[in-house]
Amino acid sequence: MTAFKTSARSAVVTGATSGIGRAVALALAEKHLNIAINGFGSEAEIEKVLTDLKAAGAKEAIHVPTDMSRVTEVEHFINEALKAFGEVDVLVNNAGIQHTALVEEFPVEKWEQVISINLSASFHSIRMCLPSMKAKNWGRIINIASVHGLVASTQKAAYVAAKHGLVGLTKVVALECADTGITCNAVCPGWVETPLVQKQVEAIAAVDGISIAEARHRLISEKQPSNRFVALDELAQFCLYLVSDLAGSITGSSLPIDGGWTAR
Ligand code: NAD
Repeated sequence: MTAFKTSARSAVVTGATSGIGRAVALALAEKHLNIAINGFGSEAEIEKVLTDLKAAGAKEAIHVPTDMSRVTEVEHFINEALKAFGEVDVLVNNAGIQHTALVEEFPVEKWEQVISINLSASFHSIRMCLPSMKAKNWGRIINIASVHGLVASTQKAAYVAAKHGLVGLTKVVALECADTGITCNAVCPGWVETPLVQKQVEAIAAVDGISIAEARHRLISEKQPSNRFVALDELAQFCLYLVSDLAGSITGSSLPIDGGWTAR
C-alpha cells in the first residue's frame, strides 16, 4: 500500500472542542501538523483538547476563542493561525449548530444563527485562507456539510438551507481553484453520535415518552439503513485521505458517509 503523504504543514479546524471537529483535528495531529482550533468549552476542556492534540503528535496546537457567527472573529481566528504558522494549507469548516421547528414557528434569530455559523462562517474562513493556499499552490478545504446538504428532513429549514448552501459554495471554490493544487470538497455525514445528535435523541425521548435507548433506535432506523451511527474515526480517516497528496483530483465533490441514507 502507498504510504500516506501530504504537503500539508498547518491546519485549521473550526469547532474542534467536541464531536467530529475534535476527531478530525486528532487525526491531523497524528500526521504532525500544526493545528489551530476554535470551539466553545470551559478552560479545562479546551486545555484537555490541546494536550490531546500534542500527545497525538501535533507540532503545535493553539486555540483561539472565536464565535463563528461573527465575521470579525472568524477573520481574527484565521489571522492568528497565519501569524502562528506562517501559512494555512488545510481548512476544515466544521463548527455547526442545529435547531428544529416547523418553518412557520422557526425563531428568526435561530435562522440567522444557523445560517451564519453553518454557512457564512465557511465563506469567511475560505476567503481568508485562499491567499495563503494560492501562494503555496497547494491547499485542502474540507467543508463538513451533512446528508442534509443533499436531501431534506422536516423541521430543519435553516440547517438544510445552510448545508445545501455549503455544498454550492464548495462547488464554486473548487471551480475557481480547479487549475491549482487546491481542492475543496464537502463531506456529508449521516447520523454520528455527538452532543449535537444527543440533544435530538433526548428531545424524541421527551416528546414521545420513551427511553433514551428507544429514542436512539428510532432516530437511526428512520433514516440510516446501516442501523448504526457513523463512527467518528470513519469520518476522520476519510478527511485525512482528502488531505493526502493522492486526493488531488477529488474536488468539488459532496461525499456522503451515511450508512446508505441518501441511497434510498
Ligand atoms: P458538536 O456539537 O459535538 O460540536 C460542534 C462544535 O462546534 C463544538 O466544538 C462547538 O463548540 C462548536 N461551535 C458551535 N457553535 C460555534 C460558534 N458560534 N463558534 C465557534 N464554535 C462553535 O457537533 P458535531 O456533531 O460534531 O457537528 C460538527 C459538524 O458536523 C457540524 O457542522 C454538523 O452540522 C455536522 N454534522 C453532524 C452530524 C451528526 O450526526 N453529528 C451529521 C452531519 C453533519
